[in-house]
Amino acid sequence: MVNEKDFFQLVENFPYGVYIVKPDRTIVYWNKEAERITGYSAADMVGRRCPDTDLNHMDEEGTPLCETYCPLLNCMDRKKAASKKLVLTHKKGYMVVVNAHFIPLTDEEGHIKLVAEIFEILNFLGRETRIVQNLYSLAYHDSLTGLPNRTFLHAALQLRFSEFHRLHRPFAVLFADIDHFHDFNERYGHQAGDAMLKMFAKAATGAIRKTDTIGRWGGEEFIGIYPIKNRTDILPIAARFQQTVSSAFIHHDSGPLHVTMSVGITAAREGDTIDSIIARADGYMFEAKKKGRNTIVHDEIDGPFGPEG
Ligand code: GH3
Ligand code: MG
Ligand code: MG
Repeated sequence: MVNEKDFFQLVENFPYGVYIVKPDRTIVYWNKEAERITGYSAADMVGRRCPDTDLNHMDEEGTPLCETYCPLLNCMDRKKAASKKLVLTHKKGYMVVVNAHFIPLTDEEGHIKLVAEIFEILNFLGRETRIVQNLYSLAYHDSLTGLPNRTFLHAALQLRFSEFHRLHRPFAVLFADIDHFHDFNERYGHQAGDAMLKMFAKAATGAIRKTDTIGRWGGEEFIGIYPIKNRTDILPIAARFQQTVSSAFIHHDSGPLHVTMSVGITAAREGDTIDSIIARADGYMFEAKKKGRNTIVHDEIDGPFGPEG
């Protein structure tokens, strides 16, 4: 009879890379061929969350998938096996094109327990690496500030909602709009306005945590996405953002120039969609404008942190 040990031995020596993740994408298994293809051993990978590793799954167009369209999450959401051509980054830095299959493993009640990724090498990407990265950069970043753009923010929100619904991982959305920026442009010129936007982007990028995202929604509007544990986490997010805004300045003959922002912050609620959470954060931002600007309006902090927000 074939027992569990035999199966384990088979998978361990399979001529395909195999790795297995839990629903939160923590890697729990990594076979020898996976090590040969990627350069990473089981000791390097087991226990880490796949998006926190340097594998950097991308699709063939160079779109990074971990924070947007992760095929592992997709497979969990759809509870169906799927196949996809992917680009992985080898430990030595070059890229490997693989044919990958995703297989959901469910318990007796049909809940997703694990997802397996089985992959084989198609070819290597060497010099093209930079092209792929440039394409990604153009498609997902704002050309003025270099921040993630609206397309990226949309995809990042989609991923946060996927984790929110499946794993009950709460997150908060921040909506910020520069105060009287029209006047700023009128007084100091459009170039100074552009420089101000760039300086803010630089300050925001420097101050941000690895798990957080701040991007340019458009014009002088920015959106932040923050995984949180408790509703009270909104307070330090607000304080840090305030600090970032006041730290950004540009030089001008008359002295350093600063801007202020009106900001709304809200945590995801049951039944929320990308549009509804942004509308609520935007609504708070508008309240902040009405209160006289240079202020932050957020969800009430008191009370239980339930699904109703
Ligand atoms: P409020 O406090 O009500 O937000 O006033 P505001 O002047 O910021 O708002 P309004 O929406 O009237 O104007 C936004 C201005 O932001 C208009 C435009 O001149 C400026 N702006 C938007 N995008 C850019 C940009 O890329 N560069 C520069 N320099 N200015 C921009
Ligand atoms: Mg505006
Ligand atoms: Mg404005």
